[in-house]
Amino acid sequence: MSTEKYTCCKNCIAEGRSIYKKGFCKKCYRWAMQLEKANKNDFQPFSSYERKQAIIALQEFKRREEIIKSGDCEPMQLEDMFIAITGACRSEIKPIPLEILYQMTARDRYRCFIILLDILENVPRDAPVLLTSTYPTKGIDHHVQTWRSALDNFEQD
Ligand SMILES: [Zn+2]
Repeated sequence: MSTEKYTCCKNCIAEGRSIYKKGFCKKCYRWAMQLEKANKNDFQPFSSYERKQAIIALQEFKRREEIIKSGDCEPMQLEDMFIAITGACRSEIKPIPLEILYQMTARDRYRCFIILLDILENVPRDAPVLLTSTYPTKGIDHHVQTWRSALDNFEQD
C-alpha cells in the first residue's frame, strides 16, 4: 500500500479538490487509469486510441486548472468556452465579436469562465467537452467532431 500523501491532484494540480485515488482527483483518476492500462497493453491495436484519448482528457483538465489558478482569462479562452458550451448544447452561434471580450475586465472574463466551466463539467458526455476555437455547425455533433480533430492532431511530446 502506498504511503504517499498528496495535497493536490498529480495531473491537474487542482488545489482544494479532494484526492480520490492514487493521487488523482476524481475527474483525472478515470483517465489516469485508462492511460496506465493502455501503456500496459501496448501491443493491443486499440491501446493507441485509448492512450491518446486519456492523454487529451488529462491535458484538458490540467489546462482548465491552469486558467482557474491564474485568476485570469484571456479573451480567446473565454471565446473557446462559449464555443464549447454552445457545441455541448448542440446549438450554433454567430462568431462572438472579439471587441466585446476585450472590453470586459480580466476579472469579469475570469468570473464568466468559471461559471461556464461549472456548466461544461456537468454536461453528461463520455469524455470531457473540449475547449475549442472551432465553431459548431448545427446538425453536427460538436463534441464528436472536436474529439476527432484532437485525436487526429495528437502529437506526443
Ligand atoms: Zn485532477
